[in-house]
Amino acid sequence: ERVPVIAGNWKMHRDHLEAIQLVQKLAYHLQEDDYEGQEVVVCPPFVALRSVQTLLQSDKLPIHLGAQNCHSEDEGAFTGEISATMLARLDVRYVVVGHSERRELFGETDEIVNAKVAAVQRHKMRPILCVGEVLDQREAGQAVDVVVSQLQGSLAGIRVADPEELVVAYEPVWAIGTGKTATPQDAQDMCAAIRTELASLYDEQTAAGIRIQYGGSVKPGNVRELMSQPDIDGALVGGASLSSEDFALIVGHR
Ligand code: 13P
Repeated sequence: ERVPVIAGNWKMHRDHLEAIQLVQKLAYHLQEDDYEGQEVVVCPPFVALRSVQTLLQSDKLPIHLGAQNCHSEDEGAFTGEISATMLARLDVRYVVVGHSERRELFGETDEIVNAKVAAVQRHKMRPILCVGEVLDQREAGQAVDVVVSQLQGSLAGIRVADPEELVVAYEPVWAIGTGKTATPQDAQDMCAAIRTELASLYDEQTAAGIRIQYGGSVKPGNVRELMSQPDIDGALVGGASLSSEDFALIVGHR
């Protein structure tokens, strides 16, 4: 039985003081049973991780901490970078890796993403590995091929001993920040294709246990239908996670 993961990717929004406020408001809107049977994750910018960690600890909030990126090396002369080692020390549980914005705007290849997945695992955190096609690729009927090749490249040599250690996020690039959501059926079809590929990379049992999220214009109004699909085990939420009310409604969609 897969425990759904609902994660808010704040991207480059909110300073550390605003981050505290946002988490406090979110906790205010969430009821105890909203946390049951699913994991709730917030991924603030790096500079807010420490203050959010402190808040989550002091208020004993059952919200998990996520980061949006990391470097693949543990330390070294990499000016401006943050290592998985450092994130692990802040009680970070999830690290988003290979987000399409990192791939498109910062030149991350599958090879780079692969090294980051390994770094996250080395420090006992869980990668949220993002994959997804652009519009041209979907229109050309190449969406599944693109995603399968991203999975193969990003997971090369990566072992998964426990399926909880890896989360895959299917984020069709054309649905990110555009208000255009994939239809629940299209999202389901791709997530099923992802699971099939995971079964061939690993084995049936492992693939059956790996959580696959959908991301791309997830809102309170569409989350339920998306999450009710058999192979969709959570959501990676961008814009709507910056509103405590909306994110609470998404978490509490059941
Ligand atoms: P939006 O929810 O704003 O479309 O962003 C999705 C996303 O990129 C989450 O990682």
